[in-house]
Amino acid sequence: MTTRPLMTTDELRRKLEFYRDLGIKDVYRRAPAPTPSAASTPLETMPVEIKIPSLNPAGDSLPRILEDIGDCKRCRLHEGRNKIVFGSGNPGAKIVFVGEGPGADEDDQGLPFVGRAGQLLTQMIDGTASKEGIPIKRPDVYICNVVKCRPPENRTPEPDEMEICGQFLFRQLTSIQPKAICALGSTAAKALLGGKDGVTKLRGKWHKWHDIPLLVTFHPSYLLRPYNQNAKRESWEDLKMLLHFVYD
Ligand code: URA
Repeated sequence: MTTRPLMTTDELRRKLEFYRDLGIKDVYRRAPAPTPSAASTPLETMPVEIKIPSLNPAGDSLPRILEDIGDCKRCRLHEGRNKIVFGSGNPGAKIVFVGEGPGADEDDQGLPFVGRAGQLLTQMIDGTASKEGIPIKRPDVYICNVVKCRPPENRTPEPDEMEICGQFLFRQLTSIQPKAICALGSTAAKALLGGKDGVTKLRGKWHKWHDIPLLVTFHPSYLLRPYNQNAKRESWEDLKMLLHFVYD
């Protein structure tokens, strides 16, 4: 007889609550075979096999993910937010840009990258595309963040906040199925690739997120600092590489 992993009812409850908090409503449990020993086993040690639902439920879509996020209170970031910043742009985009989390302007408007860093991102996308003869502009791509609520004082999101909210980012990416992803800065790179490497180490070469090619480049906020001119040049090169890969 094969042995199945054991899970106590308490562990099972916690697992189910976790999936409920991610917006997943259907969970399937295969009933254990009715054997005389199972019938006499106390509930706490009953062998239970749960089928973990996939994070891309059939028929998933951006409106459904937004609906599942709802009036989210899954982590502490909800306490200080004005608006949830879900994402913006073309739901059929060939490129998705992923930032870290909303700042004050984004929190006000409910839209990603609308402050100073956002203006630079727009210039970088529109300017590089135009210089390279690629007929796209910012509304042709999709832009979102790892966390959807503004962290207090614009601090870096904590690992648990990234893990909880990251599930919605993963569903966004799975639903859009872009030809390439561009991680803006080390928080987005960490959320999508794991590991500890920073942008300098990761940029300039292709990585993968679940079979989707992924490029890492500097966060536009970093490029706004006057002493980072070298990084500015490198990020224009990254963008050229990204646009030619996707549109040539
Ligand atoms: N920085 C980010 O990472 N995301 C935004 O939406 C704005 C600034």
